[in-house]
Amino acid sequence: MLNFKNTTIAYIAILLLLMVGSLFFYFSGWVFCYVIISYLIIIIFGSFWMKFRFFVPTFTANKITNKPYVALTFDDGPHPVYTEQVLVLLRKYQIRATFFCIGKNIERYPDIFKKIVEEGHTIGNHSYSHKNTIGFNGTKCWINELEQTDTLIESFGVKKPAYFRPPFGVTSPHLAKAISFTSHTVIGWSIRPYDTSIKHKWAILRHIKRKLKPGSVVLLHDTHARIPFILERLLLFLHENNYKAVTINRLLDEK
Ligand SMILES: [Zn+2]
Repeated sequence: MLNFKNTTIAYIAILLLLMVGSLFFYFSGWVFCYVIISYLIIIIFGSFWMKFRFFVPTFTANKITNKPYVALTFDDGPHPVYTEQVLVLLRKYQIRATFFCIGKNIERYPDIFKKIVEEGHTIGNHSYSHKNTIGFNGTKCWINELEQTDTLIESFGVKKPAYFRPPFGVTSPHLAKAISFTSHTVIGWSIRPYDTSIKHKWAILRHIKRKLKPGSVVLLHDTHARIPFILERLLLFLHENNYKAVTINRLLDEK
């Protein structure tokens, strides 16, 4: 399996072989440069692509279920305006979803967070700060991010979240160490329609509909004005096509 440990061992072996080989044959210094550059490219690719599961085991979809279950997930809330609109729609269509909440937003909007909990949705940890440089955190900083948010969520009478979604989907060896300490299950996605950056609502919907299949995990955000429009049409589409939207825990348990 191509992961950080196996890749690093393989590249160290290649470099050692080249060094031994250079005692008997001539190798240009560029050969060593190419090997190191290709290693760095794999590391960068592994950091940004969660499906790769390069640094940490990650659940991105249920590929073995034959039931038409899909999981809708909402990141970055609670939001003072749009989270409640999302909750109204989920209640209207009797859907349970998963909310990956940011700790500092829970502190800022506790009443909205309480509503997510009261409506029976699954809560996931999405870090405390969600800062742009979070991917460069050391292990200790990651543990602080995770534990601070867990403690905050538990203070609302919710049990410690079992799931964590890394901000921006960026993983690293430090995060992997932190996760092995905190024991969260890392959750990615199989459908990312870039709903925060693409302004065209129908283009976002088309992207989701085209990629949707049993076991899919859809990444959405309850933080922007387009989400009520997109969500209502998506819920209608799921209903008309006999899909059932479930929480991450339910999708993970499906065989
Ligand atoms: Zn996020």
